[in-house]
Amino acid sequence: MEENKKLFTLIPKVDELLEEDNISKLLDIMPRKLVVDSIREEMDLIREDIKNNILNEDTIHQRIKSLPKLIVKRANNKNSYRLKRVINGTGVVIHTNIGRSLIHKDIMDNVVEIATNYSNLEYDLEEGVRGSRYSHLEDIVVEITGGEAAMVVNNNAAAVLLVLSTLAKDRDVIVSRGELIEIGGSFRIPDVMEQSGATLVSVGTTNKTHIWDYENAINEETAALLKVHTSNYRILGFTSSVSSEELYVLKQKYNIPLIEDLGSGVLIDLSKYGLEYEPTVQDSIKNGVDVVTFSGDKLLGGPQAGIIVGKKEYIEAMKKNPLTRAFRIDKFTISALEATLRLYLDEEKAIEKIPTLNMLTMGIDILENKANMLYNLLMERITQEDLIIDIVDSYSEVGGGSLPLERIPTKCISLRFEVSSITEFEKHLRKLDVPIITRVYKDTIYIDLRTVKEEEFYLVVDGISCALKELGGVH
Ligand SMILES: *Cc1c(COP(=O)(O)O)cnc(C)c1O
Repeated sequence: MEENKKLFTLIPKVDELLEEDNISKLLDIMPRKLVVDSIREEMDLIREDIKNNILNEDTIHQRIKSLPKLIVKRANNKNSYRLKRVINGTGVVIHTNIGRSLIHKDIMDNVVEIATNYSNLEYDLEEGVRGSRYSHLEDIVVEITGGEAAMVVNNNAAAVLLVLSTLAKDRDVIVSRGELIEIGGSFRIPDVMEQSGATLVSVGTTNKTHIWDYENAINEETAALLKVHTSNYRILGFTSSVSSEELYVLKQKYNIPLIEDLGSGVLIDLSKYGLEYEPTVQDSIKNGVDVVTFSGDKLLGGPQAGIIVGKKEYIEAMKKNPLTRAFRIDKFTISALEATLRLYLDEEKAIEKIPTLNMLTMGIDILENKANMLYNLLMERITQEDLIIDIVDSYSEVGGGSLPLERIPTKCISLRFEVSSITEFEKHLRKLDVPIITRVYKDTIYIDLRTVKEEEFYLVVDGISCALKELGGVH
């Protein structure tokens, strides 16, 4: 106990630490409180360790010597944004957990202009009176999709809820049992239906639904037929479902609206680029669907949004629904979405400038070049002998619940240790200033070149060498 007391007196005072060179420099770049808190927290840790006899007379000096470095690290951590960029090494292009679709810098120029200035967000420049924020997007959505009218809300979940609430509140909506999906973030069709006030009438079986299943369920209470794109899974084998083309016949015969939740909402036929065919929004409209909903940040490659396109009478009714005010998009979304949609007027431009499409259609020769470049950069910097670095063939995924079975051939950098496990190293990669998110399989880390930009290579190389150091030359 006596000895402990002596150890406590060795801990420097807060004021002394504040004058230390590296710590005092922090005061220029961050609030004083943040620095002082960091000092106190590190000192508390030392006190704790003294109490628990983890530190003794021999070890305390070393710890006190390293205090400034620990304080600087802690303060920098506190001062960094909680939401920060990461490097996507997973090869999952539309990865909902790490931000779904990326927006091209050129598009963000437009967003910056709108955000840092006043705009005609809800102002009619012709008449000098109040205008509608939806007007900016409606024409271009209509032009690209061939629908009569359109509106945009916060996300596709809101879009589905708004459509059902407007067209089917207190009445029935017929859906195939094979399409009662749950997607991430607990969006379940039966729950959304309940929230909207519509009654779900499910027909058919899990694997097979026929046109007569729908027809048998139609009665005076039927408000709509709903088709849901089973984005994130496929039922294979003995299956059948009814296409929107077939449902169109029923819709005409009984005069009830046909709604389709497309999920991803692809606007370009991706089968031209070697991917599996995914129904386009244009096809749904052509097939006579009355109202189509889809996401802005899945295969479309824009900002988070839910786009509704279809018959004018229905869209007009939705604009008047009070939910619309709660689901309304902000000006950042409008400007980013308008700029993204404009790219679609020229398909080549869209593929080049929309990162999601660009990554998905990236050829294997480009991926191989990228892999070689990154490999060479790593070889120049990484000297650790037992880290084995290779270029390997693998598969990327579309993600975002789109094309769940699609495996796109790709090139990866693989990292593994000759003897020890890679798990600890992967953790260090996640804790870097710019975290690197990777895929781990059979004790090997894979970094997929499809989702890593060339501009990020230096961060990957720095990150890997930094993480190796953190690992402490244990290996
Ligand atoms: C992704 C998805 C949604 C939800 O879209 P968000 O834009 O994420 O709200 C709804 N329905 C289907 C079929 C989907 O794939």
